[in-house]
Amino acid sequence: MGRFYITTPIFYVNDVPHLGHAYCAVNADAIARWHRGLGDETLFLTGTDEHGAKVAESAEKHSMSPADWTDRTSERFQEAWRTLNISNDDFIRTTEARHYSTVQTFLQRIYDNGYIVKDTYKGLYCISCEDYYTTEALVGGRCPVHLCDVVEMEEDNYFFRLSAFEDRLLEWYESAPDAIAPFAKRNEALSFIKGGLKDVSITRTSLTWGVPVPWDSSHVFYVWYDALINYLTAIGYGTDDEKVATWWPHVHHLIGKEIIRFHCVWWPAMCMAAGIEPPSNIFVHGWLLVGGSKLSKSMAADEDSPVKLTDITPASLTEDFGVDAVRYHLLRETPLGSDGDFSIGALASRYNSDLANNLGNLVARVATVVGSKCGGVGPCPDPESPLAEAAAAAVSGAADAWEKFAPHEALEATWRLIGATNAELEATSPWKAEPGSVDNVLGSALEVLRIVALLISAAMPATADEIWQRIGLSGSPASELLPGAAAWGGYPGGLTVIKGDPLFPRRK
Ligand SMILES: [Zn+2]
Repeated sequence: MGRFYITTPIFYVNDVPHLGHAYCAVNADAIARWHRGLGDETLFLTGTDEHGAKVAESAEKHSMSPADWTDRTSERFQEAWRTLNISNDDFIRTTEARHYSTVQTFLQRIYDNGYIVKDTYKGLYCISCEDYYTTEALVGGRCPVHLCDVVEMEEDNYFFRLSAFEDRLLEWYESAPDAIAPFAKRNEALSFIKGGLKDVSITRTSLTWGVPVPWDSSHVFYVWYDALINYLTAIGYGTDDEKVATWWPHVHHLIGKEIIRFHCVWWPAMCMAAGIEPPSNIFVHGWLLVGGSKLSKSMAADEDSPVKLTDITPASLTEDFGVDAVRYHLLRETPLGSDGDFSIGALASRYNSDLANNLGNLVARVATVVGSKCGGVGPCPDPESPLAEAAAAAVSGAADAWEKFAPHEALEATWRLIGATNAELEATSPWKAEPGSVDNVLGSALEVLRIVALLISAAMPATADEIWQRIGLSGSPASELLPGAAAWGGYPGGLTVIKGDPLFPRRK
């Protein structure tokens, strides 16, 4: 048992939450739930990023104050996460007083340490990224992320002396080879650093919607600089040193690959500049693609783009497929760290094959045969069952996979056990046998369902609870201690088994 602090990026409030956000939130949620299951003291943080020029513009367009606008748009994310059963312990909004206080304390320390200086900045700026680009970084003269036009900007700004951290960053990458994962993403970030680092502009005078610079009230911090610091706000940086010492060494940032530069170059350097350790782990996930394009709200809103992805809201899928099926698909279909293609067809097909035919069928057939052959009372498992070995393999496979942020592998391991159990039932056909001769095989199948409920509890919490109750157990699999609770032989027998409706009715 240990401590586990996991964060998602804070999501930009300017549009409705879409499936790309949900992909990140569901993965972080499942990993957090797994760690709670291990008995780790766990802190799971998500939230919304609410400053910057785009937000101020949108507010104006809607004839609202930025504060009212962000109240409304932040709520959409909170609602989406409730729908998806996201179990975050904290939800941070960068407009909260606690965040202003942490940002100002943190950046004041960097300023006092001599790593923030004043200078004039001139460059090409993408308003969607809220970031400057060099001419070489553009694609056909346009923003490489959004493929939109960039504008020329000149500002008298404060600069973070990122260039002073090249060597220290390289040393850190060398000394902590696992800090950034997967390895290919680590190398990508490393090549940014090796390419040479320039100082970055971190304040703006062109707008007021931001955190004021404590030593110069005519400036606000650039939205990215305040946003990154949210990970420290949530653990009380600046007000509660003990809490920071408790949680910061255990932080895991789950991020999308489009923000590698901010998280794997700027952020560790900012931490060093403020005199704290860089984050212990940054895990970079890939993009969900639809028809080969990134699932991005900015691109979807682009008139020139043929892809209209803002239509795929999490709620539009959960209404149709159910919350746990959507969670399962997001966790199972694409290895975290790789890009994946999303399609409704693939979701429907996985629903039928994995959930209806495999898991749902196993639960239904075991309950039916226990009903017809054992009077609805579950027998004890067979200590010698061939399924015991398959179960042990599933438990250790799942545990290893969750530990390395590989939910798809954890679920594959679990589904191998489900498949083996369905095959064992086919082979022994207890529904054809005499009552009294089937106790071992049915007790063992019930034991598999108990173990499966434990193993899927992080990914599909409501389904896990439902299976748990149907096989007669009380409480919730989420409150059992893993992996010990998943050792073979825990099903006590003598419990009433309920058939119930199909967990995942087959879809046409
Ligand atoms: Zn851009």
